[in-house]
Amino acid sequence: MSAPVDARTGAVAAAAALLATARDVTLLAHVQPDADALGSALALGIALHRRGVRVRVSFAEPDRMPESLRSLDALGLVVPADDVPAAPEVLVACDTAGVGRLGRLADRLDTAGATLLIDHHASNPGFGNVQLVDASVEATVVLVHRVLVEMGVPVDEEIARCLYAGLVTDTVGFRTAGPAAHRLAATLVEAGVEVEPLVRPIMGTHPFAWLAALADVLRGASLEPEAAGGLGLVHAVIPAPVVARFRPEEVDSVIDEIRTAAEAEIAATLKQVGPRRWSVSLRAKGGFDVAAAATALGGGGHRNAAGFTRDGTAAEVLHALRVALAPDAAAGHTRVSAHDG
Ligand code: MN
Repeated sequence: MSAPVDARTGAVAAAAALLATARDVTLLAHVQPDADALGSALALGIALHRRGVRVRVSFAEPDRMPESLRSLDALGLVVPADDVPAAPEVLVACDTAGVGRLGRLADRLDTAGATLLIDHHASNPGFGNVQLVDASVEATVVLVHRVLVEMGVPVDEEIARCLYAGLVTDTVGFRTAGPAAHRLAATLVEAGVEVEPLVRPIMGTHPFAWLAALADVLRGASLEPEAAGGLGLVHAVIPAPVVARFRPEEVDSVIDEIRTAAEAEIAATLKQVGPRRWSVSLRAKGGFDVAAAATALGGGGHRNAAGFTRDGTAAEVLHALRVALAPDAAAGHTRVSAHDG
């Protein structure tokens, strides 16, 4: 197919041109998809469906649509990973910081007729025939909106809801949003988005039983004021039984609670995903770059939201994290296999 297209020059036009002539499009979100990944895939999917394109949206895991995001799939475009064609005509990877983030569907990159990557992670090494990667935007849905505008697609209410969901979550309720993202939000509200009913199930809605479990997790949190050269680290462990009992919507919200500790610039949660395996989420408040630390530990992400997966005891993983956060930790790491945000 076409030669790789550089991120900054003409990538929006190249993406729009590829989709404008497509007859059958498979849109993939990353594993454990969030509102930005699924919102991006579904916004494009709805737009293409309305143009008569055969469309499906999928992700490698989990095997069901996240409950809090179900309302985004207004047309029922999401299919199980097993129903993704062995050789998709056109494949679109959304919000996917690296090939590994596609999970077991990554093999479709080798069989697809053409592949389009749309992402906003600075750590993305790039893959696919057309690469629309721009780390200056707050969410992948911003790039999807540019593609839709380039294609001349009217942004109706159902498309706008998908875009708004990705924008409001990746900007932590617009806290990290610049002027253009606020303007886009206004456009989406004018297109018919009812913000409160859309956002309520996605951000800050949990089953009552979660409150007691959260209290236990927070009681076990620790503060290390000397970590990261004195910027401070607060961390909490989420044991496997808690991970098993609750939805990702609950488990992945712990980081947003512990990051409120005033004494720490950096927050970390250690989610137990195996007997000796931990999925670590990192957040930074100020200028500290947690993506560098996450990348050094085999993961990746954004400056203020990143993650990695590591084997060992919780104490061993915490020790490795402390070393990576230390001021003299070496720069220039390149491996990328996981991210948050
Ligand atoms: Mn994102």
